[in-house]
Amino acid sequence: MLKIGLTGGIGSGKTSVTNLFAELGVTIIDMDILAREVVLPGQPALRDIKKTFGEQICDKNDELNRKKLRDIIFAEPDKRQQLEAIIHPRIREQAQAVINKLNTPYCIIVIPLLFETGRQDTIDRILLVDTSIEAQIQRTMARDSISEDYVKNIIATQVDRQTRLKHADDIINNTGEISDLKAQIKHLHKHYLELSRKNNPNS
Ligand code: ATP
Repeated sequence: MLKIGLTGGIGSGKTSVTNLFAELGVTIIDMDILAREVVLPGQPALRDIKKTFGEQICDKNDELNRKKLRDIIFAEPDKRQQLEAIIHPRIREQAQAVINKLNTPYCIIVIPLLFETGRQDTIDRILLVDTSIEAQIQRTMARDSISEDYVKNIIATQVDRQTRLKHADDIINNTGEISDLKAQIKHLHKHYLELSRKNNPNS
């Protein structure tokens, strides 16, 4: 199974791109969604988080209080490592469980912070959704009704555009109209099907 790691900065168009791949029947595995699922009430990761951060990290309904958790790991950086040690293996496990059940030539794994958290060795190729910083700011402000400074601060915490461009295997140019995406995605889809056939000539 060919595994494509899709990444890109905030508001670059990852969701818009994955929606189009999904229309072509491609399975999308979103690491952000899995990250939320592994800490739902009753999950082993939540139990471990409570052991490390105390029962008060959850609200009365046993739901993880994300704001409290964010404040703690912001104030104590080594707590972030403890949190990651709890959730990352579970996220990878869940992703692998989905992959094991697939019977398709390739899948796309959305890893927004792929460069920030270190390339995953399970990924065969990196697909980057690229756009200008100005477009990232304008589109995210419009989508989330937030200020320019807020978006700029998030962009500042992410890896820079040049680094992403340098390390990507494939690039989707999303600097233009949203309607420009379709043709690029069709072309990549064909390319990935060919690659997976080359990897598995008997399939
Ligand atoms: P995040 O990292 O915040 O989850 P994302 O990378 O998934 O964002 P999208 O949500 O796909 O980005 O796109 C951000 C916003 O910009 C959305 O409202 C989307 O509809 C819009 N958008 C995406 N591409 C274009 C484009 N080429 N032209 C105009 N608007 C666009």
